[in-house]
Amino acid sequence: MQKQWESVIGLEVHLQLKTKTKVWCGCSADYDQDPPNTHTCPICLGHPGTLPKLNKKVVEYAVKGALALNCSINRVSAFDRKNYFYPDMPKNYQITQFDKAFAEKGALEFKLKNGKEVRVGITKIQIEEDTGKSIHVAHESLMNYNRAGIPLIEIISDPDLRSSEEAYEYLNTLKSTIKYTGISDVSMESGSLRCDANVSVMEKGSKVFGTRVEIKNMNSFKAVARAIDYEIGRQISELEEGGEVFQETRLWDEDQQITVVMRSKEEAMDYRYFPEPDLLRLVIDDAEVEAIRKTLPETRGHKMERFIKEYGVSEYDAALLSADREISAFFEEVVRASNNPKASANWVLGEVFRVLKEREIGIEAFPMRAVDLGTILKLIDKGDISGKLGKELFEKKLYDLRSPETIVREDGMIQVSDRAAIEALVGEVLTNNAVIVDDYYAADDGRKPRVLKGLVGQVMKASKGKANPNLVTEILLEKLK
Ligand code: ADP
Ligand code: MG
Ligand code: ZN
Repeated sequence: MQKQWESVIGLEVHLQLKTKTKVWCGCSADYDQDPPNTHTCPICLGHPGTLPKLNKKVVEYAVKGALALNCSINRVSAFDRKNYFYPDMPKNYQITQFDKAFAEKGALEFKLKNGKEVRVGITKIQIEEDTGKSIHVAHESLMNYNRAGIPLIEIISDPDLRSSEEAYEYLNTLKSTIKYTGISDVSMESGSLRCDANVSVMEKGSKVFGTRVEIKNMNSFKAVARAIDYEIGRQISELEEGGEVFQETRLWDEDQQITVVMRSKEEAMDYRYFPEPDLLRLVIDDAEVEAIRKTLPETRGHKMERFIKEYGVSEYDAALLSADREISAFFEEVVRASNNPKASANWVLGEVFRVLKEREIGIEAFPMRAVDLGTILKLIDKGDISGKLGKELFEKKLYDLRSPETIVREDGMIQVSDRAAIEALVGEVLTNNAVIVDDYYAADDGRKPRVLKGLVGQVMKASKGKANPNLVTEILLEKLK
């Protein structure tokens, strides 16, 4: 019988923390737009004789992230040196946490599309520093040390993931969880999140994990999933053909969509870890942890439940509305202003999302305040304007600084609910559309509503969209009797 295989995956995620300054020196960490090597000093350039000094904000952000990932915070941890030579690392060692990390034993929970609930343990989280960047051109390599000493946390998962889909969802959950805390931009595309995947396969039901391969160089969550799938397939065919899986580091090749060997176990570096002599142990006391815990925002899971319960939105909509903290805040403001949660959800997910996509902007750049959208929805609910005019008002408000009420008044958008005026319009339409009227009388009960709808449309057109459609229908029915 054909053997059945099971894959095992563990992820290592590096996150850049969004502090104002670097982790060991006062250099500004906001280096993105600036020329190379303008955010450097003797400390982050690794000059001999300089001493690192731990940035307190880094600890605060790291603890905040760790608490959001349900970790316990170690009251005492320490820094270690990881020694290796590479030009992007001027000290020739990276300061990290090897023996004792500041946080451990966390977990993330999420649900797959098929409903399966997954819980992934987080082994530990360590604070460390980023390296500089080398750029290779024609016959030379250029170094930019602006990134050297940017604070990172490395989040190491337990080998609890069983498929690329689970890994993909783990990353999405991690991203939205961290994004909520505001400690990092969490963007793989812009480099503030980086992820290595450890992959092994074993016979289904086995209790012993297979040999793991570490894959690097993926540049999106989708690439992580594809690299994992490729690697699972490669390992299975290797084993089925009587071969062996070697413990090695492989690189994902995005062009060819394959993994290639980077270094084997024999070539693995011996980092000669030892305690960092220039830094004190990291002591975090209970009061500090509790103070940071108080600053944690409502979790996404809690928010989703609340949206479903309080506002009666579907689970699907609640998931979309809570994925981003700013979007969810915008939505709740619209609800408060409109007093109509269902319509608020529909408009935010429909019209607002469409504009964000068209303009390729985030909600912070959306040209309309949430209260204004709320007001538009209220005008519709009150019957001052029709739903159709509401859409028009929304489009206008995107470019117009006047309040929605003012636009409606000054631009004559107010809905006509005056009976006499509508009766006159209906009379006109009935005389001008004798053929349709005859068709209405000839139609059977199944077709009648459709013909009627056509007549309503004619009246609406005659009113330039301003007539109250309910009233139009009512009057038409009366006159056609
Ligand atoms: P390293 O220093 O070699 O990167 P780490 O301890 O930092 O090792 O990370 C090991 C990662 O590999 C963890 O995410 C862990 O869950 C995962 N892992 C360990 N064993 C296996 C295995 N047999 N198959 C897949 N992943 C594994
Ligand atoms: Mg590692
Ligand atoms: Zn510096």
